[in-house]
Amino acid sequence: MSTQKFATKALHAGHDVSQNGGTRAVPIYQSTAYVFDDSDDAAGRFNLSVPGFIYTRLNNPTNDVLEQRLTALEGGLAAVVTASGASAIATTLLTLLRAGDHIVASNSLYGGTYNLLSVTLPRHGVTTTFVDPSDPANFAKAAQENTRAIFIESLGNPKLDVLDIEGIAKEAKAHKVPLIVDNTVATPSLLNPIEYGANIVIHSLTKYINGNGTSLGGVIIDAGTFDWTNGKFPEFTEPSPGYHGLVYSEALEAAAFIAKVRIEGLRDYGSALSPFNAFQIIQGLETLEVRIKKHSENALELATWLQDQKEVTWVNYPGLESSKYKKLADKYLPKGQSGIVTFGVKGGYESAKKLVDSTKVFSLLANIGDTKSLIIHPASTTHQQLSDEAQESTGVTKDLIRLSVGIENIEDLKHDLKEAFATIDSKALVS
Ligand SMILES: *Cc1c(COP(=O)(O)O)cnc(C)c1O
Repeated sequence: MSTQKFATKALHAGHDVSQNGGTRAVPIYQSTAYVFDDSDDAAGRFNLSVPGFIYTRLNNPTNDVLEQRLTALEGGLAAVVTASGASAIATTLLTLLRAGDHIVASNSLYGGTYNLLSVTLPRHGVTTTFVDPSDPANFAKAAQENTRAIFIESLGNPKLDVLDIEGIAKEAKAHKVPLIVDNTVATPSLLNPIEYGANIVIHSLTKYINGNGTSLGGVIIDAGTFDWTNGKFPEFTEPSPGYHGLVYSEALEAAAFIAKVRIEGLRDYGSALSPFNAFQIIQGLETLEVRIKKHSENALELATWLQDQKEVTWVNYPGLESSKYKKLADKYLPKGQSGIVTFGVKGGYESAKKLVDSTKVFSLLANIGDTKSLIIHPASTTHQQLSDEAQESTGVTKDLIRLSVGIENIEDLKHDLKEAFATIDSKALVS
């Protein structure tokens, strides 16, 4: 199996057709619970000595296929799927950390993650120092005695900065803390952070992996490479009162973290993925490689075209020669740079509003990674709850328009934007 290439694994990994009545498609197991053979079997499943399903909050056969497939595609040890990308991030951090712990994070993050780290987790005693991620040394400089994780996005949403994962992984290793990478925008088809030293990879499955804008989902993939016995993680080396004295690092070894995510994280925080959504996400995942290639091609062509439009002040796409991230993109994203493009429009907020109100193919909404093209003005929407300084550091300027370029015909996309540009007040263009 391991010699198979990405496209083949995306279609087959984790699904044994002999196990499911010969169904070629992965079936939806829409069942809350699973009948035990007898009381010994039941006890065995609860104490982990007998493999098997117990209750869908913990696992489910449809979800299990998706977990195995995503593990294979990211090159990890094991995975847990969750109800959303946000819950994947929260469950990871709540499983890993305790009050008093500290995170060093990139300042270029998805708005929801930024809020979790800057506002919500501090209420629970976990604090974060945000750093400019363009220099890996900044992570080391911000590391404290109580630092227990480094958190980054491989391709920041919406700043579109490509991070030097390998350099940051070296700093994480030197400080004996795991590197957690949100790989949502890049997708496993374009980039596998584990190859560069990431210990835990997270995705919002809602975006490119599902791809059709129908289902929320998230995943936590454990590389199985982090040494939890280094003295900094008593959660894994001391008997867990939450699981009848289990010592995770001894009982589960390399799988200590991902096992704790499932048997304590899913059990206690409850962010299980619906099997129906897992089924939908599997349909999307099957075609990820061809879709993300097309998204990337369309985005590069549209970004190039935007550079020549008189209404546009700047264009950011990591595949452009003019991008300051081009060198890193050549290393980390040689197959394509995904489908997000940002640009500034002349006339700032008013022009941006006109533009997003006028497109007909691009839908005005808060999502990315759909096959259909999407447009939004983050400063007034997705990043509205952030302070001006936080907006600035997450890369959201007032004039910024974010496109999630779909897989429509490229000429139709250019035409749609051209017509929308024509609605901007000509006075705005001379300012
Ligand atoms: C959307 C997104 C999330 C959150 O995922 P949901 O599925 O919406 O909960 C996290 N990280 C990134 C980079 C995202 O784009």
